[in-house]
Amino acid sequence: MTSNLICPACETTYEAGPNEPWRCQCGRALEFTERPHPEGDPLPLSQLDTSDGLWTFFEFLPIEPHVTFHEGFTPLVDDTEWNAQFKLEYVFPTGSFKDRGATTTLSRAVELGVDRIIEDSSGNAGAAIATYAARAGLEADIYVPADVKQSKLMTIQRADARPVRIEGSRQDVTDACIEAVESGDGWYASHAWNPAFYAGTMTFAFEVAAQRDWTVPDAVVLPVGHGTLLLGAYRGFSLLNEAGIVDEMPRLFGAQAAGHAPIVEAVGGDPTGEEDDHDETDIADGIQIELPARKNQLIEAITETDGDAIALGDDPIEAALDRLHRNGFYVEPTSAVAPAALQQFREDGTLAEDDDVVVPLTGSGLKTL
Ligand SMILES: [Zn+2]
Repeated sequence: MTSNLICPACETTYEAGPNEPWRCQCGRALEFTERPHPEGDPLPLSQLDTSDGLWTFFEFLPIEPHVTFHEGFTPLVDDTEWNAQFKLEYVFPTGSFKDRGATTTLSRAVELGVDRIIEDSSGNAGAAIATYAARAGLEADIYVPADVKQSKLMTIQRADARPVRIEGSRQDVTDACIEAVESGDGWYASHAWNPAFYAGTMTFAFEVAAQRDWTVPDAVVLPVGHGTLLLGAYRGFSLLNEAGIVDEMPRLFGAQAAGHAPIVEAVGGDPTGEEDDHDETDIADGIQIELPARKNQLIEAITETDGDAIALGDDPIEAALDRLHRNGFYVEPTSAVAPAALQQFREDGTLAEDDDVVVPLTGSGLKTL
């Protein structure tokens, strides 16, 4: 059942194992050779046993559930003020949607017999991977920016993982981490590169569909750094279509931070944030990624679903954050980028007022204190 790896660009295959490569020799991100589909019609939510959380959808996953906190099946709530359904992805054991990918990635690490893992992250992914590594009993080195928020650093340390603080840009952190991986220090449990992570984020789509009586919304608006949730959603909704469970794709919209918006630039938008006088914003620290590992696939997911991407500056992000907090959604600033984008898409007519939209609220505000 353990899936081998394949490069979608040059089709080179690699055997699964603790020493498998973290990317193809041609430089591209690898994917699993296995893409299981479930048989038959899905049960209505009322008859579905969801006590295993996102692992309820094990039939879609080429990984066994070795490392789990019964995470997932986060609430999907109607919000009248925003006229959208919010999926409360900050209601996860470590406070962000990254647990979707951490449970599948560490489960794969156990399956492969890995004994040490390495990850780099500005915060949430590091906390998630460190916590699941602790559950798995594996040693973990988490490369973080030197100025990482104390609360996120504490999560990593309390999980008994080793934070490795790197001075410089977010890219410098990744470069130092990759150097360690390539010199044989451990298996790269990367939320950006490891296909196991995206197997986990696919379950976002399965839950949304199940919670809506196996229908898909008109659109989903998500924050995009490496795009792990957007790409997972795309893959999940695509699998549901292939399995004949639904027969539509939602339009996928990306929300980025002004000055850190390579996907907006690639789809022809203004990466500085149109209606804003800021050139760059640092408030959304979770999505400051200049080189997404799966950039081409992200662009494809957005354009193939007739979606779009925009960049937001400080003002709309802060306004959305305040409004979310006043309404009981205690999220971190990065999470506010998506509702801010929804508002802008409605104002400029990209989305209609009566379009049925799902917005994930991705990370807890408690960790940014
Ligand atoms: Zn290749």
